[in-house]
Amino acid sequence: MSQDAEHQESAHTSLDPTGQQYDLVIRGERVLTSSGIRPREVGVRGGVIVAMQPLGNNLDGEEVIELAEDETLIPGLVDTHVHVNEPGRTEWEGFASATRAAAAGGVTTIVDMPLNSIPPTVSVEALEVKRRAAHGQTHVDVGFWGGAVPGNTADLRPLHDAGVFGFKSFLLHSGVDEFPPLDPDELEKDMRELATFDSVMIVHAEDSRAIDRAPQPDGDDYAKFLASRPRGAENLAIAEVIERARWTDARAHILHLSSSDALAMLRTAKNDGLKITVETCPHYLTLVSEEIPLGATAFKCCPPIREAGNRELLWQGLEDGTIDFIVSDHSPSTLDLKDLENGDFGVAWGGVASLQLGLSLIWTEARQRGLSLEQVVAWMSERPAQFAGLAGKGRIAPGYDADFSIFAADDAYVVDVKKLHHKNPITPYQGKALAGVVRRTWLHGEVIDFENPRGRLLRRGMTDA
Ligand SMILES: [Zn+2]
Repeated sequence: MSQDAEHQESAHTSLDPTGQQYDLVIRGERVLTSSGIRPREVGVRGGVIVAMQPLGNNLDGEEVIELAEDETLIPGLVDTHVHVNEPGRTEWEGFASATRAAAAGGVTTIVDMPLNSIPPTVSVEALEVKRRAAHGQTHVDVGFWGGAVPGNTADLRPLHDAGVFGFKSFLLHSGVDEFPPLDPDELEKDMRELATFDSVMIVHAEDSRAIDRAPQPDGDDYAKFLASRPRGAENLAIAEVIERARWTDARAHILHLSSSDALAMLRTAKNDGLKITVETCPHYLTLVSEEIPLGATAFKCCPPIREAGNRELLWQGLEDGTIDFIVSDHSPSTLDLKDLENGDFGVAWGGVASLQLGLSLIWTEARQRGLSLEQVVAWMSERPAQFAGLAGKGRIAPGYDADFSIFAADDAYVVDVKKLHHKNPITPYQGKALAGVVRRTWLHGEVIDFENPRGRLLRRGMTDA
């Protein structure tokens, strides 16, 4: 619990005497506050949370929502790793469909990756193209990452000034030719540049030399695909990022950690005081390679889903704080690129679509491990918001945006791909029974209705109306 938050809550109680009317009041026994799940009334005005009071104070709202016994009000989730792909590959995924999927899953803010759309977000002009494409069609708030590619070092500062949240780079072929990788020396050069304005380099950490020498992934056997993306390739690249962060004093972030081998060196790097953060994704925490059926390319992603023992160690890494948070790496493609007819892991696009399911997936696993809903929401909302510098997101507290969901933690459902909002109907979770249902989601104090897009485009440090 943060003392600040408690202080803010009580300060607001005295500043906001009852008798004032709020646009919206939500009250119930279970509101996820900065000090845990508490009986509270939440008062919203102008899209912002302005009051948090004990349940029973009967705040006066133009609209009043009473939580049912089985419902918890949770902050909107923040997913800093989403590939929307519009413009250029809008048939893979677009802003309207991706943000509907987000809203249905309780995610109220996404930050879009700079690649797979065309042009990739590697210059201010490209960022403007993307912002124009997104404008007026997002159901949740959307921010943007920039890209660091060979030759665009001079574009990084202007992109930062134009509001990107940081810069993505690869250490091997990215999957699309228009977003080439950096070699480790180029990575270091760009990290030195980013350090001058305290931006962050977010890295897809697999080493191209190690991948080139690994066996080929052809055929429908997942074990062969796994062997083609060995842990060693990830370990080597992560070691490289850690040392370059040490040499430059820049902020670095490891995207989608899969290899649990790397936890020890990440722990050491953090203990050494390096500015390193780490994320992992629902597929690494809920799926295991031993159970992936022949030819099931819905499960293909890079780095790959690994063994059951690896999954256990990733959960330990989360619990001990080595891994900072959980985001989706939602990275869809069209069905034909998933090579469903042949099920060839060597040919299929690598990427899992899971934006709508993340909270239920993680909650289903976490509760079996005795972990609390507060902990899960911290990993999926507050921590990624802090990482991206999204002030006003990630908590239900006075002064924060009125972005939240009603979550029924004990309710359950079976995943049906036809009910998922993302554009191409494929998921590795088809038929899976999950705990936790998102019943309704608010953005800036208004219910998301899936018809009228009210999302804002975010710039680092500010919002556009
Ligand atoms: Zn990704």
